[in-house]
Amino acid sequence: MFYFTKKFAKIIVLIDEVIKKMKTTVTIKVNEETLYKIKNFYEPHLTTNHNEHAFFTAKTDYCTITAYKTKKVLFQGKEAEREAAMWASIQEDIQNKQHQSYFLESIGSDEVGTGDYFGPVVVVSAYLDDTHVKKIQSLTIDDSKKLTDHDIKKVAPHLLNLLPYSLLILRNEKYNEVMNESDMNLNKLKALLHKQAITKLIQKINKNTTIIIDQFCSIDYFKQYINDSKFTKKINFHTKAETKFASVACASIIARYIFLQEMEKLSETLKITLIKGASSKVDRQGKQLVEKYGKDILRRIAKLHFKNTEKIEKLSI
Ligand code: MG
Repeated sequence: MFYFTKKFAKIIVLIDEVIKKMKTTVTIKVNEETLYKIKNFYEPHLTTNHNEHAFFTAKTDYCTITAYKTKKVLFQGKEAEREAAMWASIQEDIQNKQHQSYFLESIGSDEVGTGDYFGPVVVVSAYLDDTHVKKIQSLTIDDSKKLTDHDIKKVAPHLLNLLPYSLLILRNEKYNEVMNESDMNLNKLKALLHKQAITKLIQKINKNTTIIIDQFCSIDYFKQYINDSKFTKKINFHTKAETKFASVACASIIARYIFLQEMEKLSETLKITLIKGASSKVDRQGKQLVEKYGKDILRRIAKLHFKNTEKIEKLSI
């Protein structure tokens, strides 16, 4: 009798474990790269899912995988734990690699103000190495384009304290002079300014390192504009580089900060808050300024080759 009770209890425990395994649900949070890897991996097992929040659902013999648009992935079934653990480990590897390449020791270079009618062009090169990473991580620098002016003003002073950088401000009078030169164009000007800022920074840090420019024109044109193969050989071009490399993100934030300061200084002098960009609002403000200070004011505060100049002239007739 006792023997049977013991055996029965064992069976109950076993059944319990089986049920538990069948019901196991594990959720992990992944990034976009891992999410697509998971989807590709389970491609042959994809099934339809009408849940609007679901990204995909796949059913294997032992596990159901539901990925959500929030990048949460739910594993259900008796192999849930094993499958989830495998993807959690892949996710960790991917993150480590991304972290390493994002915080690559490098000089990053970016410019600001080239799309704004009013105000200068600011070019900044910033250097980042392993010693800066910990301090940088506590600041919000990811996706610097999405930061508000308020965020920029909070973050940039820390970066200015922390990183070696070089900075060029091309104010409007000089800008208009240079742009008037024959065979000059905006991309050529950017290329020359980047070269100048980068060269200055290399001298400052006194070492050779990877150099990354947020790409603004084709590499062939850049080579042509610079006409210095020794220099261009050292440059790496990346589009949206501020999202891929912390050094470029930092350069971009510092450049925006300096641009904001310059715009505030100009606004104070003119007793009007200058509008950024190149919209029709800018045209109307330009007209007001011309009425108040005369036509020559534009040469000193604006980029004359923009179409806005013509529009302001028409508005002012
Ligand atoms: Mg840029």
